[in-house]
Amino acid sequence: MKILVPVKRVVDYNVKVRVKPDQSGVDLANVKMSMNPFCEIAVEEAVRMKEKGGVDEIIVVSIGPQQAQETIRTALAMGADRGILIKTDDAVEPLAVAKLLAKVVEEESPELVILGKQAIDDDCNQTGQMLGALLDWPQATFASEVAVANGKANVTREIDGGLQTISVEMPAIITTDLRLNEPRYASLPNIMKAKRKPIDVKAPGDFGVDTAARLKVLKVSEPPKREAGIKVESVAELVDKLKNKEGVI
Ligand code: AMP
Repeated sequence: MKILVPVKRVVDYNVKVRVKPDQSGVDLANVKMSMNPFCEIAVEEAVRMKEKGGVDEIIVVSIGPQQAQETIRTALAMGADRGILIKTDDAVEPLAVAKLLAKVVEEESPELVILGKQAIDDDCNQTGQMLGALLDWPQATFASEVAVANGKANVTREIDGGLQTISVEMPAIITTDLRLNEPRYASLPNIMKAKRKPIDVKAPGDFGVDTAARLKVLKVSEPPKREAGIKVESVAELVDKLKNKEGVI
């Protein structure tokens, strides 16, 4: 079985992002970038499946600038076998990403595509679902447990009311939730080995996909600063403030 894992290069989750002075977006100059945490979980899950047996190859694919190759190398050091970089300096929206991934799926014929449930830069949470629709494949989103057997994936999903377990026929799309696993750190020998693993470099045009933006960002702004709290002397004063000052009751 082949597994395809799309990985996105995003601002590292430890970075406190700054909005550009003209409010056109987030300032990315000299900011640490890393693999999207949910994509790390997806790579880890694929590698664990391979370690258990029954997986022949894990292919990672990233759509982004030249530096996204580093993100692919990180996945290769974790245990993936080869990479595909679809190189572009443009911001690519989830629909175009899903269209490109659908073309890669056509070429590579994986039985599973494991994506992150969302990328922590734009928080879209759309790509896996759009890819499922484009391919007309079953999808199991927000996975916290995955078991593959007899051409089916049994996936436990984190939903509002608790956990839901579903069974999907493969080929299928899975998106990872936070509690699925704890990704490993790549060891030094594996980092060295990853340098020799192949990465194919392509362009969106090679797949005939138009990546032009469909959305227009009007402005990006910081969340309002939290105001200091106040102490009240009595319940009566609290109720009065909630009723007459804040207007919440
Ligand atoms: P999103 O729908 O943007 O929140 O992203 C969900 C998931 O789709 C990510 O965790 C990745 O697995 C995949 N994805 C999104 N954008 C890209 C990209 N530019 N390159 C590769 N994978 C991506």
